[in-house]
Amino acid sequence: MSTEEILKKVAAEVSTCTKCDLWKGRTKAVPGEGNSHAKLMFIGEGPGFHEDKQGRPFVGPAGQFLDELLASINLKRADVFITNVVKCRPPGNRDPLPAEIGACNDYLDRQIAAINPQVIVTLGRFSMAKFFGGEKISAIHGRARKVDGRICIAMYHPAAGLHQQSLKESIRADFKKIPQVIAEAERQAAEGQGKAESPKAKEDPPEQLALF
Ligand code: URA
Ligand code: SF4
Repeated sequence: MSTEEILKKVAAEVSTCTKCDLWKGRTKAVPGEGNSHAKLMFIGEGPGFHEDKQGRPFVGPAGQFLDELLASINLKRADVFITNVVKCRPPGNRDPLPAEIGACNDYLDRQIAAINPQVIVTLGRFSMAKFFGGEKISAIHGRARKVDGRICIAMYHPAAGLHQQSLKESIRADFKKIPQVIAEAERQAAEGQGKAESPKAKEDPPEQLALF
């Protein structure tokens, strides 16, 4: 199956999914959207009021801020892929429960595997937990780390920035680092390909990601 076919299949499954109770309150499921060959993928928390109505991720106020952040690094939504850890809206925008995140995780894993982005940015603590375990966002936000061979960066959720000016500035500053991280990921990928053909490869020190 092509990447597009896999993403379509996931979206179709999500739209009729009943694997956790969140399906009961949904208007539309929100599988995620964007470039199926994106180098950069964003993973948020879950659909809110506007997303549930439209079936699209980050279309409310937090989404407007995300659009502004993307524009600050010369990217459009169509350049990236945007999704969430749960694809149906938690009632009243409450936090998704561990069981709900667990039930929905397979869809997210299939999306990541199909798109195979070079860089994943987690927005907020629930997607952060998937890649960074129990670490604190205040300690690790904006730092690139290799997780399972892929570069991941944890950032504050854009909605948090809407309520607190200091976090807004923090997110803006973290976003500005993204192009450099993608460039470094591309450099490492190119080097990796070169290494496969080079008999000297084994003499090189192990790969390290010491960006920030
Ligand atoms: N907040 C999220 O985490 N995801 C959305 O899609 C919208 C708001
Ligand atoms: Fe299915 Fe995920 Fe929706 Fe739960 S949140 S019903 S697991 S698509």
